[in-house]
Amino acid sequence: MAECLFCMIVAGKIPATLVHTDDEVVAFRDINPQAPVHVLVVPRAHYANVGEVAAADPALVGALVSAAKSIAAAEGHEGSGYRLIFNTGADAGQTVFHAHLHLLAGTGLRMTMA
Ligand code: 5GP
Ligand code: ZN
Repeated sequence: MAECLFCMIVAGKIPATLVHTDDEVVAFRDINPQAPVHVLVVPRAHYANVGEVAAADPALVGALVSAAKSIAAAEGHEGSGYRLIFNTGADAGQTVFHAHLHLLAGTGLRMTMA
């Protein structure tokens, strides 16, 4: 989608700090990090949210999680722990409607319902 922010990052039309790329997935650092490590893992293909990914291509959900695992390991957090979040829809706080997996790692991660 031409006007989609994350499609433009995937296409290299908007700069981002990339930490992982493969045939299916691109990952880059969040511009407004909420933890010492905050990476967004996105499919190259445009889907509005992870539910659409699951419906169309379930293996791609696995590819997103696998990439996040690899990045967590590369950042030194596979043993200490990390959190994966798919905000899905407005009530969950999704603001960019290109599916993305948040990888959060570092000290002091807290679970909130908001
Ligand atoms: P959401 O709230 O949709 O789950 O998450 C969207 C995320 O995208 C937010 O954490 C926000 O900081 C991040 N974000 C928004 N615009 C940009 C951008 O232009 N570049 C990067 N790297 N991250 C962005
Ligand atoms: Zn998109």
